[in-house]
Amino acid sequence: MFEGTASTMVFLVHCQCANCQRSSTKRVPIPRVEGAPSTVDEFIEALEHNPVPFMCRHCESLIGELVGVTLERELEEG
Ligand SMILES: [Zn+2]
Repeated sequence: MFEGTASTMVFLVHCQCANCQRSSTKRVPIPRVEGAPSTVDEFIEALEHNPVPFMCRHCESLIGELVGVTLERELEEG
């Protein structure tokens, strides 16, 4: 499923639906390339310029409020 050629960071964007108030988490894989955000702070900064499309999985509302961003723990291999 995942390409193993380049390492990827997976940010978890936590949003709360403005309509039904339920929280959703969206996984956003970011390849480790030059200029790509490598920390949560940088990712949030990037989000301000390029917001991640939101759609509530419960009610399909397109309006969500950003609650927080976390970094998914990298897979431990070996
Ligand atoms: Zn909703």
